[in-house]
Amino acid sequence: MTVEVDLNGKKKLQLSTITHTVIAPKGRWSGQLKAGQYIKVTDPCGKQAADFWAFNEVDFDEHLSASHTRVWVNRLCPVPGESFHTNRRRPILQLIADTCGMHDLITPACDADRYRLYGVQGDHPSCASNMKLALTPYFKDTRFYVPQPFNMFMCCPVGPDTSVINGPNPSKPGDYVILKAWIDCVIAISACPQEFNNAAGWYPTEIEVDIMEAANG
Ligand SMILES: [Zn+2]
Repeated sequence: MTVEVDLNGKKKLQLSTITHTVIAPKGRWSGQLKAGQYIKVTDPCGKQAADFWAFNEVDFDEHLSASHTRVWVNRLCPVPGESFHTNRRRPILQLIADTCGMHDLITPACDADRYRLYGVQGDHPSCASNMKLALTPYFKDTRFYVPQPFNMFMCCPVGPDTSVINGPNPSKPGDYVILKAWIDCVIAISACPQEFNNAAGWYPTEIEVDIMEAANG
């Protein structure tokens, strides 16, 4: 698969897919993204959140940080051209393209306790457990702190009175985000299994992941 990305009207970027993965509803994925490579995350059905984490491949204590990113870009979420930053205050991923335009850097990942509050008695998949399971091949059991994720395709803007609004998930079928790695990363993604609110449009569906490289620089 190839995709042409318009870089702010200045340049057309041709990207070619190296690997394509479909994450099953409520499922997870992890993989390596080398510096200079691109990752495209697609919501094929619409209204489906994808929780996204990025770690420095050689030092897992450095990771994409929602709070450090918000302060760096002076807004709730970067726009194309801007970069996500780490807890060591350096860029880790640049936002290259975004057909949705609405994402969340405020809400923590859903977890077992969140589902317990809904009255779920037994196990329930969650984005937090998906992250831990997805990263086991990389982390072993050395650390399982769950950083604040980049919640793709989620709608949680802040109102003028500082209230946090949990709106319906805004993504349309086929909406996607493309990011470029500044450093070698390990990425984890959870197709949010939330069916008790609108984070996954009440009916969790698939998320697609393409690792891509530039065909024309
Ligand atoms: Zn979730």
